[in-house]
Amino acid sequence: MEHKAKILIIEDEAPIRKLLQIALEAHDCQVLMAQNAREGRIMAATHQPDLVLLDLGLPDTDGQVLLQEIRDWYLKPIIILSARDEEAEIIRALDNGANDYLTKPFRTGELLARIRSALRLSAVDTGGKNLFETAHLSVDLAARTVRFREEPLKLTSTEYALLVLFIKNKGKVLTHQQILREVWGPGYVDHTEYPRVFVGQLRKKIEENPNEPRLILTESGIGYRFAG
Ligand code: CA
Repeated sequence: MEHKAKILIIEDEAPIRKLLQIALEAHDCQVLMAQNAREGRIMAATHQPDLVLLDLGLPDTDGQVLLQEIRDWYLKPIIILSARDEEAEIIRALDNGANDYLTKPFRTGELLARIRSALRLSAVDTGGKNLFETAHLSVDLAARTVRFREEPLKLTSTEYALLVLFIKNKGKVLTHQQILREVWGPGYVDHTEYPRVFVGQLRKKIEENPNEPRLILTESGIGYRFAG
């Protein structure tokens, strides 16, 4: 990883915390650790980590609830690490604002690849001083700010990366595979539920009427096209 990324681990199982700490420190990350939701909430707010690794089975608050709480104000990547592997639980976490989801037991190499991918997204470089504007939406690609109906709009790093990908490919059909490869990385082409979930979230934020999208159009069975 290019710079020393500050990563917060919220996990109640000490052996897993230790394993993660060793792996991350070996890859030049600065590691912060919380063993319950209460500590995690405080540390996320006070230390401004570059990324959060969050376990769902925490002793004091369910990880899904903590995820919703911190997602309100923490816009950087959150990766879920959980023994829960049901699709409904994964979709719920993505809906609640997680950037990614890894089930336990996990391979350290895969976790590191996902962390790199999430951090890369978080730092999407759009180059140039580009301003994208429609009647209701304004995206300043240089300042990385988005306004909707004149008001500042908060997007998570994944939502922002997805929006930038659409803007850069305005008018073109992007397949699910292309979106997965560009936004999440080459290792993600099988996560076909990700574009659907994240496009749904983005539509809720940038469409006049999310049920009748005018900006992000569905190309049935293929992918999406940004009409802009
Ligand atoms: Ca746990």
